[in-house]
Amino acid sequence: MSIDSEYHRILSPLLRGWIYGGDTVGYSTPVGILACQRDPLLRKLDATVVASALSSPPPPSKGKNTKKAVLAPTIHPGEICLEVCLTDTVIFPEGGGQPSDTGIIHTLDGTVWAVLQAKRHGDKAIHFVRVHDGDIDGALLAFAPGAKVKVELDQAGFARRQDHMSLHTSQHLLSALLETRLGIKTLSWSLTSYPSSCYVEISRGMSLQEITMIQDEANKLVFEGKKVHVEVEELDTRNVKPVEKLESGRAVGRGLPEDYTGGVHRVVVIDGVDRNPCCGTHLPSLNNLQLFILPHTETLSRSSTTVARLNFLAGPRIIAHLTSTHNYLTSTAAILSCGTPSVPERVTQVVEDRRSATKRIEEAELELARYIATDLVREMQGAGSIFKKHLHRTEDSTNVLAFLTTIASACFEAIAESGTENPYLIILSSSPSAQMVTNTNVVFILGSDDKLVKEVGEAMKTKLGVKGGGKGLKWSGKFSGVWKNRKEGSAVEDILKSVS
Ligand SMILES: [Zn+2]
Repeated sequence: MSIDSEYHRILSPLLRGWIYGGDTVGYSTPVGILACQRDPLLRKLDATVVASALSSPPPPSKGKNTKKAVLAPTIHPGEICLEVCLTDTVIFPEGGGQPSDTGIIHTLDGTVWAVLQAKRHGDKAIHFVRVHDGDIDGALLAFAPGAKVKVELDQAGFARRQDHMSLHTSQHLLSALLETRLGIKTLSWSLTSYPSSCYVEISRGMSLQEITMIQDEANKLVFEGKKVHVEVEELDTRNVKPVEKLESGRAVGRGLPEDYTGGVHRVVVIDGVDRNPCCGTHLPSLNNLQLFILPHTETLSRSSTTVARLNFLAGPRIIAHLTSTHNYLTSTAAILSCGTPSVPERVTQVVEDRRSATKRIEEAELELARYIATDLVREMQGAGSIFKKHLHRTEDSTNVLAFLTTIASACFEAIAESGTENPYLIILSSSPSAQMVTNTNVVFILGSDDKLVKEVGEAMKTKLGVKGGGKGLKWSGKFSGVWKNRKEGSAVEDILKSVS
């Protein structure tokens, strides 16, 4: 593979010497000019082991900072790995928002080893190689310094890489157009797990017209097949500009990682569109990178600043996205027994029907509650002493408490209307029709004396394990389990009997 190419332009001759020539013992090509960065389509490379060691398991990721780990292939706890450094590699170590590649390494004895992850340590690309059957000594022998190996992006590894490259190059294109056409800055971006859409976080929300305009512009450039190339020279930290900040203090993009010691300054150029310092692997042209922007922006509130999120898809992921959304749509259409174009109309109709059905149920429940209340008041007339009553109902409604509350309100109204001064205590209870231990039973207590209502409520807690509470003349609660008239029903009757 040539070191210089139309794609990979070395601006300073010094760097050519930094790329492993095959005769320097113990030397590895620094991250910034790795083979995968010089030729993103290269899938196989002969290399030599520079160093290898048993890997210490990575510390468990802490709750908050898991965003970055989304796409890092997981190395399971207990997995034994070697950390292997080679003279050069086609496996890209995670960086610049682009996740790590996965791949394989062939050793001289014909063994194929899985590379689960690659990471940058300082200026070196470190491969996390899975050890077979716990044979650490055998693995260390196969990867002894000086051993010749072949490092490869296998089919799965290349498919993964192609997806990442498509999205990364598209992100550069998208961010450049947002900035040059609309003055919108990209604060960060995220390459999410396949096949979700990726997103850029931007300084403000966008109208549908703006989104369409940017998408059209991007796809015009894709159609033209704009070329992409990389320019490298040695890094002069005195020339590295500090990361720009918004008025709110939010950083615009990410600067050079502080622990980067590779000494390479790398700029990714989309001809006539964008120049951007980046360590990622980028496709040599915009060919076939159709950009699809999800036509809405999500506004996010952060403690210090408000930003918006613009979701996008590109390359092979668009097909995956279209396939899954198409499947959702066709299965919804099948449920509704209609053609896909009629789905929005039919769903609107279902939602409206549901709303009016709910209203009808509420009206019917209110009417029923009034009949129940009228019956109770009739019974109450002439009771003489305190009127005590337990009324149990079987209900499969999703909101039983609302119905019992409606009955209670209707009772209060009917009692007031009747002008009776008879003291009373009424317990309403309800359980679902199916006899299941997971059932939730609801109780509602109402009465003419708040102390009595509270006392009965407390008794329900101790005797039936009801969880609840109340205020004034009302008390309500719930408990789980099967309602049996012989058991729960008679417990309620006993409670009522004890009241005087
Ligand atoms: Zn980049």
